[in-house]
Amino acid sequence: MAKTLVYKFGGASVKDSEAVKNLSEIIRNRLRKNFLIVVSAMGKTTNSLESLLAKKLAGEDFSENSAILKQFHVEICQGLFPKGHAVFAQVENLFLQLKNKLEQELNRDNYDEFYDEIVGFGELVSSRIVAEYLCFQELLVVWKDAREVVHTNSDFRFAKVDWEKTAKSCASQWRPVLESFPILTQGFIGSDPKGRPTTLGREGSDFTAAILAASLGAGSATIWKDVPGVLNADPKVFSNTRKFDELGYREAAEMTYFGASVIHPKTIKPLANAGIPLFVKSFLYPDAPGTKIHGEAAPHDVPTIVLKTNQILVSFKVTDFTFIEELHIHRVYEQLQALKLRVNMLQLSAISISIVIDAQLFKLEQLLERLKPEFEIRYNEGLELLTILHPAENGAQAYLEGYEVLLEQASRNTFQAVRRKT
Ligand code: ASP
Repeated sequence: MAKTLVYKFGGASVKDSEAVKNLSEIIRNRLRKNFLIVVSAMGKTTNSLESLLAKKLAGEDFSENSAILKQFHVEICQGLFPKGHAVFAQVENLFLQLKNKLEQELNRDNYDEFYDEIVGFGELVSSRIVAEYLCFQELLVVWKDAREVVHTNSDFRFAKVDWEKTAKSCASQWRPVLESFPILTQGFIGSDPKGRPTTLGREGSDFTAAILAASLGAGSATIWKDVPGVLNADPKVFSNTRKFDELGYREAAEMTYFGASVIHPKTIKPLANAGIPLFVKSFLYPDAPGTKIHGEAAPHDVPTIVLKTNQILVSFKVTDFTFIEELHIHRVYEQLQALKLRVNMLQLSAISISIVIDAQLFKLEQLLERLKPEFEIRYNEGLELLTILHPAENGAQAYLEGYEVLLEQASRNTFQAVRRKT
């Protein structure tokens, strides 16, 4: 039997009706059995759902937000289907379910669980519309709920995959279907042992593609993007970018670790472990080769620039004139772990620990609250973390002009700076 092919389409590739039509053309030319399509929420839907939740939490009226979101999806359908098509009732029904959920009680204690129930909705409605459209185009696909097979723990918002259970479900429930029909499913969502919806972290649909590819022993996975492949810098921010024709798994994983948003950081590992190549291709130029990430790629030394925005620098100073020792570091990391905060950069001095973290709702205040009794804490928000892999000699300087540098670190192969516009 031919190995499964996995295609993943992100928010930009389904952001309007023209984009969905383009997706269907890509599929039309490649459709076969053992084909799995993973789609994200349409456009910026997940962000809209997050702001809707923030409003609800603040006790503000969010009805206009949900009306706009519904209208956005209905208009996409109007651009794809004739009046009276069954999809309109399906979308109506899904938004009714969302409305009912939103009427339930939300507070800071159940926020993460509630978040997963609401935010995964973007993928559910998107996948419905895309599946219906493909079938309407006589590209028969079977819509499947990813929560049937992507099993996770109950770490809401950052759920961890139960690989064994997921592989079993994929083999017993989806493989027989794939032998006859392509499956279309959602990225980003899973379910916990009690069957409650979970999510894998923002931008997690790439990771879903990797989870399913690994669990099904796929031949390859392809992520369709609005860029020609993996570049050495984000073309929306930097000029003179270069595309990589191929990259090793390790190199790609490192880039994503430092914040390259082209692929979700967790995507590479399951594919590398299973030796499954990952293609990153442009949905605008689907016949162009894109980038192949695989185990046999030749190493390179092209300077690669990664910029992470919305960063917070927090410094913990010991208050009693002792020096920083393991116990202090342990205390800080313990709380970071409890709050599921990842350290993007760490620097120690004799009397302080400085960390750089992503800005996340409520997290900073909780961190300060918990560590206030032990440290004198200072922080700066709204920063950027610049990472350069394989920096050319003195090559970093050009990226620091016009910026105040709050923290800087250099090793042989990596340069990092926390910067703020002056
Ligand atoms: N829709 C989710 C998000 O925007 C997951 C994804 O697109 O990968 O984070």
